[in-house]
Amino acid sequence: MAAHTSRRSLLARTAALAAVPAIGSVVADTALGTPALAAATDLPDYAPVPQSSLGPAINSQGYYVGRIKRNLYWVTDGTYVSAFLTTRDGVVLLDAPPSIGHNIQRAIDDVTRPNGLSNKVTHLIYSHHHSDHAGGSGIFGRNVTRIGHSETRRLLIRDNDPNKPAPEETFEDHRVLHIGGERIELAWHGANHTPDNIYIHLPAHDALMLVDVALPGWVPFAGLNINEDIPGSLKAPVKALKYPWTTFIGGHLGRLGTRHDLKIHMDYMDDLETEIRNALTTVDGTPYFVKYGNNTWAAVKTYLDEVVAVAARPVVRKYTGVLAAADVFTESNAFMLMESMRLDEGFGMTVHD
Ligand SMILES: [Zn+2]
Repeated sequence: MAAHTSRRSLLARTAALAAVPAIGSVVADTALGTPALAAATDLPDYAPVPQSSLGPAINSQGYYVGRIKRNLYWVTDGTYVSAFLTTRDGVVLLDAPPSIGHNIQRAIDDVTRPNGLSNKVTHLIYSHHHSDHAGGSGIFGRNVTRIGHSETRRLLIRDNDPNKPAPEETFEDHRVLHIGGERIELAWHGANHTPDNIYIHLPAHDALMLVDVALPGWVPFAGLNINEDIPGSLKAPVKALKYPWTTFIGGHLGRLGTRHDLKIHMDYMDDLETEIRNALTTVDGTPYFVKYGNNTWAAVKTYLDEVVAVAARPVVRKYTGVLAAADVFTESNAFMLMESMRLDEGFGMTVHD
């Protein structure tokens, strides 16, 4: 049972973002002693995760549930975070990550049972349409009122996945919900991580939920959290900080955030932008184009790889020990930000004479 539990929790921990199936199968192969084991011994080493980036210990079932304020709670598997409000009329769930899955209901039961409150999820609010935050929605059946942005509805109808039914109740810019005596403010302030990603403000609980933009204690996942609108994502933390709150629910990894966490994230993005600007101005592309001749992609790839490496190096040095995994994803994040600076901002784009 212990081995089973630890493997389950290991799989849950590795079930990060879009990498779930690939990582899951590698872990399974390694456990069986197949050739993946030999490959695993050659894996690179990375800087240790700062203690301040880690959240509370996960229980033997693979989750942790804690109180944010009053009747607002959060639940995590160490990689994903969702939250819920217990009310006199039932439970309002904010996202249903499939990696937490049935542990969401267990966490709700843990909290409601001692208080004699209803453990029934009556409402589910989607932060955005991505399956890694919405794909546990189907567990709660048909008799749940699903609420989300109109674009979330459009995208979920497109995705046509029974695990994440489209919300029936939608809004465009703002919507205030009054459920079981609680106030929940939903807002869409423009595209960021995805076109449909929203701000969920709980004013009476001093909390704000904004998923997949700033991940407390950690650098963004690859490609700036698989970003669809980088200028929008750069502005999102500023918009988030305009709300009054003390607790930030970022959707990852194993802990909640503070206003300071958002500021560190913004500093990291600012530093990355400065270093990319420097690298794009100082790295000379000539040798790459001379060497690869008519193979334009080879020249462009090797040149941009060097720009990214030069830009990332000082940022990795500065944030190692501050943000977890700075040495893991900063190059990937630098590449995405560099492309946004070139393609959105037009940096370094010269018009031919
Ligand atoms: Zn997402």
